[in-house]
Amino acid sequence: MSEKRERIGVLGGTFDPPHIGHLLAAVNVRSALNLDRVLLVVANEPWQKVGSREISPAEDRFAMVEAAVADLVGIEASDLEIRRGGPSFSVETLEALRAGQPDADLFLIVGADAAGALHTWERAEELPDLATLVLVDRPGMHAADPPRGWLLERVEIPRVEVSSTDLRSRVVEGRPLDFLITPAVATCIAQRRLYGLADA
Ligand code: ATP
Ligand code: MG
Repeated sequence: MSEKRERIGVLGGTFDPPHIGHLLAAVNVRSALNLDRVLLVVANEPWQKVGSREISPAEDRFAMVEAAVADLVGIEASDLEIRRGGPSFSVETLEALRAGQPDADLFLIVGADAAGALHTWERAEELPDLATLVLVDRPGMHAADPPRGWLLERVEIPRVEVSSTDLRSRVVEGRPLDFLITPAVATCIAQRRLYGLADA
């Protein structure tokens, strides 16, 4: 019996916090490209962000992503990079996934902002051998030219002007998070008192 190769999407991020932009990307790419599952891979140390701002503990960010995907079919939170520890390089994550499942096809999902910076990623030249690149648009971000050497897919997703940066300011300033994150993520933020939320 010939088994179909599993198709796995990988959406890496800091997810501080996870929002509907991440979920819209995951759900729509899964559907458009017929993926079996999409992993939201939570960065342990987002090495390109470290030093520029305070990053919530990986354990809190992973708990929020688990809350965000709990009811979604085919979308999973992955703690692969957290378990590996140290700085999180996508190339090592893709290698680990391939080693665990040599028969799977991997799809690296990135927003327009991340796509423009792909050449700055660790061992960038090796990435195209490991996965197909999936570009999704992101409002306000210049859609970079597709980098060379990649097998490329583009997927249209509903454009929502939402970012984790804006959400963190919203918490600090007491502005609403409603409809930008899921209720389960809002509960998680409140319970863990993230983003300087004062004790109730
Ligand atoms: P921050 O503002 O802290 O940088 P972020 O909102 O950009 O957070 P990340 O965790 O940095 O979120 O993003 C992870 C991935 O999700 C990246 O590939 C990014 O391009 C993509 N992404 C984030 N927000 C959106 C959005 N609104 N629409 C489409 N893709 C998005
Ligand atoms: Mg970002």
